[in-house]
Amino acid sequence: MKLASTIQLVSSLASTSDPGVAAYDALRRLTTHSPVAVTGTLQPRKAPKKPSEHASGLITSAETRVESIVPLNAFPEDIIMAPETVFQADQRHLQIRNEPSLREALRFRSKAAHIIRDELCDKHDFIEIETPLLFKSTPEGAREFLVPTRVPGMAYALPQSPQQYKQIMMASGIPRYMQIAKCFRDEDLRADRQPEFTQVDLEMAFASGEDVMQIVESVVKRLSVEMLHQKDMPKAFPRMSYNEAMSKYGSDKPDLRLGSEIHRVEYMLPVDLIGKIGPLASPAVDVMKIPISEDPSATMVFVNTFMDSPEAQPFINNPHGQPGIFVIDSRKPLQGMQVFGFEAAEQVEELLSLEDGDLVVLQARPNAPFAGGSTPIGNLRLALHKAAVAQGLLSAPTGFAFTWITEFPLFSPTTDAEPGQGGSAGLASTHHPFTSPKTSADVDLLLTDPLSVVADHYDLVVNGVELGGGSRRIHKADMQKYVLQEILKISDERLGDFAHLLEALRAGCPPHAGLALGFDRLVAVMLGKESVRDVIAFPKTGRGEDAMVKSPTRMTEVQLETYHLRLRDSK
Ligand code: ASP
Repeated sequence: MKLASTIQLVSSLASTSDPGVAAYDALRRLTTHSPVAVTGTLQPRKAPKKPSEHASGLITSAETRVESIVPLNAFPEDIIMAPETVFQADQRHLQIRNEPSLREALRFRSKAAHIIRDELCDKHDFIEIETPLLFKSTPEGAREFLVPTRVPGMAYALPQSPQQYKQIMMASGIPRYMQIAKCFRDEDLRADRQPEFTQVDLEMAFASGEDVMQIVESVVKRLSVEMLHQKDMPKAFPRMSYNEAMSKYGSDKPDLRLGSEIHRVEYMLPVDLIGKIGPLASPAVDVMKIPISEDPSATMVFVNTFMDSPEAQPFINNPHGQPGIFVIDSRKPLQGMQVFGFEAAEQVEELLSLEDGDLVVLQARPNAPFAGGSTPIGNLRLALHKAAVAQGLLSAPTGFAFTWITEFPLFSPTTDAEPGQGGSAGLASTHHPFTSPKTSADVDLLLTDPLSVVADHYDLVVNGVELGGGSRRIHKADMQKYVLQEILKISDERLGDFAHLLEALRAGCPPHAGLALGFDRLVAVMLGKESVRDVIAFPKTGRGEDAMVKSPTRMTEVQLETYHLRLRDSK
């Protein structure tokens, strides 16, 4: 049976004995939004000439001739619900009820999950397997949530992903595993992240990264075609190495729709210009253009306003130098690029095919291998595009530009932002510590220069959003132990926390590879939603709270006692 459409009720008032009269009276006494049970006869109805004459979702081909109406509950008068009413997060039930697009997103999400299962399990022979949520604390990379038990001092941890279980399954003779899995990470929530979220998780035995990428493409293409009616899906998604993405777009999740490729130009520039744009002695210098307007004065107003806005602060405060900003104006000497000198101005003009009104940005950075997810000029590229779109100077990018980013560094210097594996080497795994080096030459580099090892790691990116990532895994216990112990230098105690995995790999585990897609993000991107909260029934707030049920709650004395816990005085 199909539900959730709206139907018109009609009653005949021909005589007072007609049951429709009593029903009509009952109907008049009802408050809107109240649930009712209606008995009547379904009959054909003349459809309206223009569908717009009725609210969407209205059944126009039939109506119900009412015999009786029984109220099942009453919608209270103290709740005001007009179509435009926006309810606070603590009234999520009313918001879901009042916002058709939210309900539509939940329906879309359910349908997408159905298609994913169909594609993976029915077409490609994956087995859906549930893995435990009461897992254990291991230094996989993200900050975990602990679940204390009634045994003094003992706790489970919620899984940051089913990673270790799914690898153990590869050692268990399961050839292809998938799960639409809940994951938990106690991380910085500012970047539209949720402490609990859903992944489309998969792993394949006797498989390479190539096999995984092909399967994932088939899932994403099917979703795009069936759910979004996309016609021109590329045969294969383009690939780009991490270094290429960072140098061309200043991001490891580039939005390819924006254009504005970045070029490295310090070799073209006069020394005194390089000295002016930042304090670094021999920096790398990047340049990009954004065609804001054909009118140089409009571009000038735009960029001055932007540089005065709070969004510009991080770029102005960049310790490696502020961005050098130029507006191309053919009425000026060297088109407004006097400080470049004749030769460099000409070369840059040719490189970027400059025209009147183009915004040109120069930015210095340390001349060192890329690390992390973005560069300042990459962030500025996004911020300027966003501001120009907001002001109607550029049109908003449309469509879906998928790309794989490959060849990430296997390790990165530790940062304060992520706990990493907590080893003492000053290194953390860029993806996670189970990712394999890409080639045998990379395996050799493990011994001599870990920071230059390239990983067999791939991320799927669309429109500047990382949809997910995966890798070919280390499938031999010796190498896994070497990475954890000798490279990341995790303590013996923490190494012991991975004993189950090492034991599973030791038991003749086949080579395997996998990936996880962020399901919330995938649905949000497909629906063009700003935030993953718009596609989750009960999302947490930016402070990690469930405003509706009011969680987390303070532990009571009894609970503390049950778990043998005592609170420290907060300092
Ligand atoms: N566990 C994922 C994988 O399959 C990655 C992730 O959770 O971010 O590699």
